[in-house]
Amino acid sequence: MPNYFLENPDLLTTFDRLVRWDEIVPLSEGKDADVADTVSTWREVLSVAGEYIGTEVAKRARQVDELGVIRENGKVSISAPLQENIKGLAELGLIGLSFPKEHGGSGLPFTVTAFVIEMLARACASTMIQNGIAYTAPAAMIFRDGNDEQKERYLPALARGEISGAVAMTEPEAGSDVGNLSTTATQRDGCWFIDGRKQFISAGNGDFVIVLARSAQGSKGLEGLSLFVADRWVEERENYKVERAEHKFTIRGSPTCSLVFEGTRAMPLGEIGQGWRGITRFMNESRIGVGIQGLGIAQAALVAAQDYAARRVQMDKPIREHPMIAEMLLEMETTVAGLRALIVEAAALQDAVMHGTDDSTAWRLRELTPLVKWYGSEEAVHTCRRALQIFGGYGVVTEYDVERHMRDALITPIYEGTSQIQSLMAVRDLMRSLLRKPQSLLSGGPSATLARAKFDGDAGRDFAAARSTLVWTLRGLTTGLARKGGVSLLRGGRQPSDEELQPFMLNAERITETLAHVHVARALGEQAKRVPERAPLFARAARRAKLVAQRNAKEISAGDGGVFERIADWERDRTSRKSRQ
Ligand SMILES: Cc1cc2nc3c(=O)[nH]c(=O)nc-3n(C[C@H](O)[C@H](O)[C@H](O)COP(=O)(O)OP(=O)(O)OC[C@H]3O[C@@H](n4cnc5c(N)ncnc54)[C@H](O)[C@@H]3O)c2cc1C
Repeated sequence: MPNYFLENPDLLTTFDRLVRWDEIVPLSEGKDADVADTVSTWREVLSVAGEYIGTEVAKRARQVDELGVIRENGKVSISAPLQENIKGLAELGLIGLSFPKEHGGSGLPFTVTAFVIEMLARACASTMIQNGIAYTAPAAMIFRDGNDEQKERYLPALARGEISGAVAMTEPEAGSDVGNLSTTATQRDGCWFIDGRKQFISAGNGDFVIVLARSAQGSKGLEGLSLFVADRWVEERENYKVERAEHKFTIRGSPTCSLVFEGTRAMPLGEIGQGWRGITRFMNESRIGVGIQGLGIAQAALVAAQDYAARRVQMDKPIREHPMIAEMLLEMETTVAGLRALIVEAAALQDAVMHGTDDSTAWRLRELTPLVKWYGSEEAVHTCRRALQIFGGYGVVTEYDVERHMRDALITPIYEGTSQIQSLMAVRDLMRSLLRKPQSLLSGGPSATLARAKFDGDAGRDFAAARSTLVWTLRGLTTGLARKGGVSLLRGGRQPSDEELQPFMLNAERITETLAHVHVARALGEQAKRVPERAPLFARAARRAKLVAQRNAKEISAGDGGVFERIADWERDRTSRKSRQ
């Protein structure tokens, strides 16, 4: 088994030559820190992590998958090999890597921990999610919003892996529509009590849970929500019930729990009424985390496929010498390197935002977050699908790991906001800014980052063609919107209605796909300026971005294909059924 850090050339190049450590080190270590010294220590940490993850965690991955979640005597727990992984990570200090030093962690920037997350996801997606959601996510939320007592109580024990938590937002009737949640928090005699039900809660069988609940009685939507911490056990009484863990085919080692709250005692986490703000910050961070999970899984599938295609001989040559397989391998390699380039950029922006920065950096992170999640998920699925195909019949056999990678990849477009929700987010922001500043579509827009990008040669021309096709498509949609809704829509005159927005909403995922590919090409192009060996990767990504942009432009201009007519039928049907009741 290899060292997942030292024996991954693209990861090493990224660390050694592409991350702007001179900008990141001062953020976490202070202005006077020695950049070279600090980076060399972090490199050492990643080498140790790469060795442990590439040997121990990777070795146990199949067992973690096969054993799944343990259900004994009505109790839900993680399997012994997954426990072993968590113990090993804790002993090496890898669980608390991102926790602040004063609370038992190492205080490393996100840009460094992103490498560990990727390696963990490559080795075992269940271990990665257990590490992320049971330890890192609750710790980040408590550190950000908790009081001193909460920080002291939870953070050091989480860093040591002695206790685990979870974050509970989703409910049976409130998935993508978080504002529909009905779990309540009521105050009696100075204490808060939670009542309701949470669904699909990763690591929900742990020692405590952070719950999003409606604390303002009668409030609706995203108003009146607050965050609370509830301990599983209070004075030896079960404070909330872990009703069950779902049986599922993906990330099988990770317990996905249904939780029942009945008069559950809880402490507010942060200000009452600020729950939506707190959970949004958590979701934005974890969306980048899921993008990294996709990257790790795609990396695993890529390495497996490269290795197999070099060894498997059909029609007198290794299958990688057959053009269709060779093309698949090149596409997979470009996707993985491109996703990594986008993630490194987003991680650095996140570090800057975490240490307080200007609005334009926060805006760039906001622009990239749904794209990292969308591209990281959808392209991880696509990459695993290709790996499975390259393995032929052996791809579906459980003896090989690619079927596990395929199954694990399939969760990424679903949790932490589905691909459709990411697309709506990306396109809503884009559309708002286009309506406010329609001239950006004349100056090469649609965002400052894309407008500024400039590259030479054929690859540069492909990139420019991809971007101008996107601009042309957006111009068509915006003109259609203005024609329908009048000029009052432009320059922030008024917000468009749902009906006016329909063409944007129908095509949100197409626009997001193009945007993501253009940004991936841009990120690789920027890298190629600094490391010329990356020019072929940029050239392939730019060509792909152009082709994706052209395909999507054609599909968008081909009209709605009867979708809106069908929706109108369904709406009529629903209204008439309702009126008959
Ligand atoms: C394994 C697993 C682990 C999870 N872990 C956690 C956790 O730790 N904590 C937590 O709180 N939640 C967790 N979740 C919940 C997860 O975030 C939700 O499943 C997800 O947000 C989608 O919600 P839903 O399943 O209710 O689907 P729905 O919201 O019902 O969506 C169904 C389909 O409709 C689409 N859709 C919905 N609205 C729109 C729209 N406006 N436009 C276009 N399409 C739309 C969706 O994209 C999707 O394709 C987990 C889920 C799973 C499966």
